[in-house]
Amino acid sequence: MKSFTHLIEEVQERGLCHHCGGCVAFCTAINYGALELGEDGKPRYRDRDRCIDCGICYAICPEIEELDRETKHLVNWTPPMGPVLGTAMARASNPEVWTRGTDGGVVTALLLYLLERGRIDAAIVSRRAGPFQRQPWLAISRKDLLDAAGFHFDTVPSIAHFSETYSTFSPSIMELQGVAKKTYKRVAFVGTPCQIKALRRMEVLGVVPSDAIKVHLGLFCAGNFQFGPEERRRLETIGNFEWADVLKVNVKEDLMIHLRQGGVRHILLEHLDFMKRYACRFCEDYTAEYADLSFGGLGALEGWTTVIIRTPLGRELFNRARGLALEVSLHQEHSLLYQASIAKVAEWSERKKRTAAENCLELGQVAV
Ligand SMILES: Cc1cc2nc3c(=O)[nH]c(=O)nc-3n(C[C@H](O)[C@H](O)[C@H](O)COP(=O)(O)OP(=O)(O)OC[C@H]3O[C@@H](n4cnc5c(N)ncnc54)[C@H](O)[C@@H]3O)c2cc1C
Ligand code: SF4
Ligand code: SF4
Ligand code: SF4
Repeated sequence: MKSFTHLIEEVQERGLCHHCGGCVAFCTAINYGALELGEDGKPRYRDRDRCIDCGICYAICPEIEELDRETKHLVNWTPPMGPVLGTAMARASNPEVWTRGTDGGVVTALLLYLLERGRIDAAIVSRRAGPFQRQPWLAISRKDLLDAAGFHFDTVPSIAHFSETYSTFSPSIMELQGVAKKTYKRVAFVGTPCQIKALRRMEVLGVVPSDAIKVHLGLFCAGNFQFGPEERRRLETIGNFEWADVLKVNVKEDLMIHLRQGGVRHILLEHLDFMKRYACRFCEDYTAEYADLSFGGLGALEGWTTVIIRTPLGRELFNRARGLALEVSLHQEHSLLYQASIAKVAEWSERKKRTAAENCLELGQVAV
């Protein structure tokens, strides 16, 4: 039986661990307590003697192929980018939610709708913890959800003096521990494709605390970017701006630096390899292919969110919120825009898979 020692050899030492936290979340929730996340975000042994070699941390790691077939079967995965029952461009009907949202505020509007109608008791989201920094958060109220809306990183004039490395990634799966402790039974999870995949792996095995996750909301993801002091300096040069003038930062088709005096600097993601987490080079999922619903700004008009409906549950929830919490742009009225939008999402998805496959070949292993 393979265990965490093998994850160290096969995933961590090869630079493939993207810190999703799945292994630690399971081992902690079930009270084995052998693992923890280090200060650098990497999983490690907390107490090796507590490891009973159950092998579950190994099996649920998204970088391990063992459960790939079962995970695909679970969500009726089909090529080229997972199940697609429908697509939409939407935004929050409530202006308060819309203005707080990253793109159209759809994720927050949907979560609010589900919470207020008693379909969920809580949601694992990620709230702002400081400039360029977010932390996983178990939201149980309207206020919690609104506080966690958005993804863009507000900055402060003194950002140049920050010395720590900030990251766009938030280890939201770790909040599963909160779910296990507080006995919530119907929880929605918002996260990156790798996190959603780790959760689905747990679901295949039927292990706690993934049984409480009833709705999987995935975010498109081109990569996780680190903003250390050196990276921030290089970005200033590439984008020809100063951090003191920056209002907020967002990732969409490119890195968007919004300036206080108006205007946006666009930096191509291809130019950001120097600040991308190494493991993200081998990741082939752009559109959160294992989610119930996937969301991104790519392909949508400014202030709207592109939505991919993937499972019957996702379709039911989206259709219920439609017209109430969500304003949905009609295919008939914007058919050309829709076609262009979906073509763009498919192109980005394909490009990410191709790059991952090339990088994996170089590394000497086949992409999961
Ligand atoms: C790391 C990351 C990379 C992304 N890359 C792309 C990209 O390349 N292209 C693209 O089109 N879209 C990308 N997105 C998705 C995009 O930024 C929006 O989240 C998405 O369009 C939904 O917008 P919204 O206004 O409907 O959501 P909102 O209503 O603003 O809700 C966003 C939800 O995401 C949660 N959240 C914010 N940050 C994180 C995080 N780091 N980890 C987990 N949850 C988080 C918030 O708590 C909130 O619940 C990325 C998102 C993240 C978090
Ligand atoms: S007890 Fe199981 S889940 Fe925890 S580290 Fe050991 S093998 Fe992994
Ligand atoms: S489960 Fe996630 S955090 Fe753990 S080794 Fe795999 S990729 Fe890394
Ligand atoms: S690129 Fe892949 S591995 Fe990296 S944060 Fe996004 S989903 Fe996770």
